[in-house]
Amino acid sequence: MTYQELKAEENQYVMNTYGRFPIALDHGEGATLWDVEGKRYIDLTSGIGVNCLGYNNEKIVSALTEQARKLMHVSNLFTTEPMVKVAKTLVERTHLEGKVFFANSGAEANEGAIKLARKYSFDKYGEGRFKIVTLVNSFHGRTVTTLKATGQDRFHNYFFPFTEGFDYAEANDFDSLRKKCDDMTCAVMMELIQGEGGVLPLDREFVKQVEALCREKDLLLIIDEVQTGVGRTGSLFCFQQYGVKPDVVTMAKGLGGGAPIGAVLAAKSCCDVLTPGTHATTFGGTPLVCAAANAVLDTVADGAFLASVREKGEYLKNGILALGSPAIHGVRGMGLMLGVIVDEGKHTAFANKLIEKGVLALTAGKNAVRLLPPLTISKEEMDEALTIMKEVF
Ligand SMILES: *Cc1c(COP(=O)(O)O)cnc(C)c1O
Repeated sequence: MTYQELKAEENQYVMNTYGRFPIALDHGEGATLWDVEGKRYIDLTSGIGVNCLGYNNEKIVSALTEQARKLMHVSNLFTTEPMVKVAKTLVERTHLEGKVFFANSGAEANEGAIKLARKYSFDKYGEGRFKIVTLVNSFHGRTVTTLKATGQDRFHNYFFPFTEGFDYAEANDFDSLRKKCDDMTCAVMMELIQGEGGVLPLDREFVKQVEALCREKDLLLIIDEVQTGVGRTGSLFCFQQYGVKPDVVTMAKGLGGGAPIGAVLAAKSCCDVLTPGTHATTFGGTPLVCAAANAVLDTVADGAFLASVREKGEYLKNGILALGSPAIHGVRGMGLMLGVIVDEGKHTAFANKLIEKGVLALTAGKNAVRLLPPLTISKEEMDEALTIMKEVF
């Protein structure tokens, strides 16, 4: 089918909840994609930070096909090797000495973390200590609870009543956060680089202060690494570059390299809080997606691979700055999570123009063209993207 034919049927049969770009993608190889009409694109999006090893990655494809032949799914009433292996790798490679709960998405991972924090506090202090402080301009998901956890008013609409017990502190303003943490607070939850909010990294000093406050008041420090995790910023998890020790780390997007998987990684301090009957999901940790996650982690949790992500990030960032375009006011971010800063409100027009010219890009916040390329992107692919960016910017 052509794009026009597909679009007509999409309009008829699929709920209109996304402002989709006007192309229908068909297949990919590395960081290159082709649409149904055969037009070629350099992908600087990885879905939205999902396809971290690119398209048609041999390791993921063979892990998935082999596992599909063996066993795609069993309920969580049985043990499977792929699940145990993902958990073991995550625990060992983060040195958190904890345990993992598997979910299916970022929002669900955050829901799990919120439940864990509330129960941690309930078990220890009883009722009334339920509040979770998040940051203004954050993004934590689309369920009724994680929408409320998201510190942006525009998400707190239509779906009333939202879950109670969230309050928002200003990012990088420790006084603001300390004031929000009262006797009813059980946790602080934050992204280290606000992704949807505009690719805004938190200050190191602020994060350290928040960690110290959490220790002082016995609050759980929940780091939402749904976007920053699994190698995206040049370390397996972003918190490792901030030098802090979270109580809970949530992840999803890149973890399955395209297979839908989310996870809550709880450190020793709280990894036994969720007990039989208190949290569950049918699909979580199913062997098919865990086979993909093992292929991803085998590749990404490697010093040389992570160094290559940092190098590519520098190359792309410097390449963008070297375009010398007056439309570009800077590049923010870490590793291969970058925001090209343009005039406020112009980011969408730039993303559309890039796509028209053959580079897939995202937007974030009010002024960022957000780039989340596959971590395996080649130098040639980056150079091709830079040539097109020069024209567009
Ligand atoms: C994308 C994202 C989520 C939500 O993940 P879903 O898989 O869409 O539910 C949560 N937190 C952050 C930081 C994200 O970037």
